[in-house]
Amino acid sequence: MAEDCLICQKHRGEGALVGPLVWEDRDVIVTHRPAAEDSPTFLGYLFVETRRHAPSLDTLTESEAMAVARAVWVGARALRSELGPEFVFSAIVGRQVAHFHQHLFVRHPGTPAQHGWMDVDEWTGAPRGDAPRVAALCARLRGYFQPHAATLNT
Ligand SMILES: [Zn+2]
Repeated sequence: MAEDCLICQKHRGEGALVGPLVWEDRDVIVTHRPAAEDSPTFLGYLFVETRRHAPSLDTLTESEAMAVARAVWVGARALRSELGPEFVFSAIVGRQVAHFHQHLFVRHPGTPAQHGWMDVDEWTGAPRGDAPRVAALCARLRGYFQPHAATLNT
């Protein structure tokens, strides 16, 4: 754990990044973007993060890399089944927070063409949810991970 890392703080349940849990195992933690008190959030935006404070993809252990890959794969399938998106995107950027995290998010049907892959969540017509709706979605998504628990390093 790094004291000043926003994602380590999130994993301790502190700070603005704390989001509803979808799945966690020995190596990875999967959460959904949180809804703010008075503003619903884009539905279908997950973060797959290593539990350990590893700064980048190339610093993961083989076990962590496999756990991340499997969680991203299960998460993509879960989002596909639950939200029926046009596409499920995934990206590793990490230029702002040096703790490995992989974005996993959907392009909802009807997203206007002017929204590229990076800003699909800025479409005002996209499905959004308040905290209870996001929590309900996370509970459904969790169900897709459970059959893989044995291979997800629990
Ligand atoms: Zn960290």
